[in-house]
Amino acid sequence: MSTLEIKGLRAEVAGKEILKGIDLTVKSGEVHAIMGPNGAGKSTLSAVIMGKPGYTVLGGSVTLDGVDMLAIPTWERAIAGLHLVMQYPTEVPGVHADQMLAEALTARQRGTDGMADRIASEAGRINFDAGLVSRALNVDLSGGEKKRNETMQLGVLEPKFAILDELDSGLDIDALRDCARRVEAATHESNLGVLAITHYVRLFEELKPDIVHIMVAGRIVSSGGPELADQLEIDGYAAFA
Ligand code: ADP
Ligand code: MG
Repeated sequence: MSTLEIKGLRAEVAGKEILKGIDLTVKSGEVHAIMGPNGAGKSTLSAVIMGKPGYTVLGGSVTLDGVDMLAIPTWERAIAGLHLVMQYPTEVPGVHADQMLAEALTARQRGTDGMADRIASEAGRINFDAGLVSRALNVDLSGGEKKRNETMQLGVLEPKFAILDELDSGLDIDALRDCARRVEAATHESNLGVLAITHYVRLFEELKPDIVHIMVAGRIVSSGGPELADQLEIDGYAAFA
């Protein structure tokens, strides 16, 4: 059992305070959804958790099983067990997905024996064309293929916690179902903890949230069960602002 704990997190970007004190605790196997209007700071939260350059932490902490994540570089956070699926996956010309996974597994001291089989099996589960792993990472892939590619990597690497920044953006219904179903399965199979940022309750048909948080203007203004998302569909964010 692992715990990702965010306490009083405040952060600024380009001289503007965006996160104004975020408290959030996610445990292994739990799915926490974060919903909120555009500009609330949802992507900023994911960026600060992973250590994307350009963001300044003004206060608070992010720990994984008590280890200070803010004190170590992004690659060490990834090895510690944090995994971000970006809203717009980065294209990396010249690096193939399988080469990247081999490096990642080696850095985790897990070895690459059977990696090709593992990739094929993960690709099969989400209807991803495994032939694409020997092409440049995400280059010229469709929106759906990119998210399937990212989800395949998540399946192979088996992190402790996944942060999904709008997994549903740029995805057609079939790709969304495949990816969301795979992440939900990981919460049972490998006890994955999930922080799922989304605008759409449609995601929850496959990925079942235990807790829904509503974020407005850099703060979590409400937390509750899945019914909170249904209420949001009816009332909109105005009721929470
Ligand atoms: P959300 O994901 O909830 O839509 P973001 O975290 O992307 O919101 O953005 C929150 C606010 O921070 C927005 O007002 C956005 O313009 C600003 N912001 C985010 N990143 C940057 C940046 N690199 N430079 C300047 N402003 C930024
Ligand atoms: Mg965003």
